Amino acid sequence: MVPSSVEVDIWRARWADAGAIAARQQRRLSELLRYARQHSQFYRRHHADLPSEPGALSAMPPVTKPMVMEHFDEVVTDPEVTRAGVEAFIADQANIGRRLLGRYPVWTTSGTTGEPGIFLQDDLSLQLVHTVPDRWTTPALLRPKMISRLVRNNFRGAEIAVTGGHFAGASGIALIQRESRFLGSRIRMFSPDLPIDELIEELGAFSPASITGYSTVLVELARAASDGRLAITPAMIAASGEAISRADKRELRGAFECVVRELYGATEGVVLAMECGSGSLHVNSDWFVLEPVDNDRRPVPPGQLSDTVLLTNLGNRIQPLIRYDLGDSIVLHQHACACGSAFPVIEVQGRQGEVLVFSTDRGTKTPIFPLALSGVVEGVAGVARCQIVRVSQTALEVRMEVAPDHPRATVWSRVRQALAQFFDAHGVHDVEIRPGIQPPRRNPHSGKFSHVWSEQP
Ligand SMILES: [Zn+2]
Repeated sequence: MVPSSVEVDIWRARWADAGAIAARQQRRLSELLRYARQHSQFYRRHHADLPSEPGALSAMPPVTKPMVMEHFDEVVTDPEVTRAGVEAFIADQANIGRRLLGRYPVWTTSGTTGEPGIFLQDDLSLQLVHTVPDRWTTPALLRPKMISRLVRNNFRGAEIAVTGGHFAGASGIALIQRESRFLGSRIRMFSPDLPIDELIEELGAFSPASITGYSTVLVELARAASDGRLAITPAMIAASGEAISRADKRELRGAFECVVRELYGATEGVVLAMECGSGSLHVNSDWFVLEPVDNDRRPVPPGQLSDTVLLTNLGNRIQPLIRYDLGDSIVLHQHACACGSAFPVIEVQGRQGEVLVFSTDRGTKTPIFPLALSGVVEGVAGVARCQIVRVSQTALEVRMEVAPDHPRATVWSRVRQALAQFFDAHGVHDVEIRPGIQPPRRNPHSGKFSHVWSEQP
């Protein structure tokens, strides 16, 4: 297959200098702003006070997830796309992995700030998802040992992601299975809801050449590999969805002796930054602009932790996001990376719930992963957002916000049932599930919104 001009440019930019990367960003930004003004009623109004040739990005008013959701029909640039049509589309689970109107994959999120969101992809944004990570990993994979592992495992890809919804991971994989001749039969989803022993057994049988998944799950797999419960030979492991520490990455490299990379992304921009061979997380700034800002949305200087970060996605025309408040705290570094890349280096904070460990009936311990647990509750119809706090060894408090058209008592009984089934499947039977009195809220000390943590005395 002949690579498209976008694909060729993604590769060429990998070794470009800072000026050439900035030129790409500026050109694409001008195109995006022009396009949004022409085709999005929302941005025409939102940017009405700006000069006809808009100047610096920093002069433009930011947008938030609630704004983008509330004005959904006016934000999107295809008049055939409506919120009502999208809602009907995602209400049908059979549409997971299909395209809305035959054109746009639709991915939903609860996000780190806990408010639900719906994000459409177009051909360009999908192309970025599938090509941008490769420019960071391919050089490391082109070594005899890794090539032999890729071939021996027949390029099989395992994706550990929450299933049962239109989430970027699950829905993205279903789309590949449906549309890609080469990868479709080689890629498989593994749910972090599975008891860890079952997950280990299934992964062992699948024998993946690459694994993408949450860091909390990957670390458990590394432990299983180290003590001989899991014998697989992946060439590549990508940690995504949660922050991962250096110590965890060391553990993964030690256990699997393969390429281990962190991917920082969100449903609003799936491949925002990727780790290089020197261990730095580089922003793919030729396609994504990240501005670290404080709570008043003033720029935060390099080297300092921001309160939040504004994303401008230069690679999505269907639902433009221009200075969109992503809610993550990042540090932008000024120093150049040893790998020689001119792409800016960041560190990302937060994004990690706690792994809760419970005792099973057999007297063993089983880890429960934060995204699996919150996924069970968020999978219940009528739950708008939730937060799960372990209040004692055997009690969980579930705080939830219920969608307006759902009776709270019904939703609660479904949540309790779903969680009971979930713990049953893990062989844990003595967990008391209590309704929280407060709604979900940010941690008063850190200011972060976390889905799952322990306040166990
Ligand atoms: Zn680097």
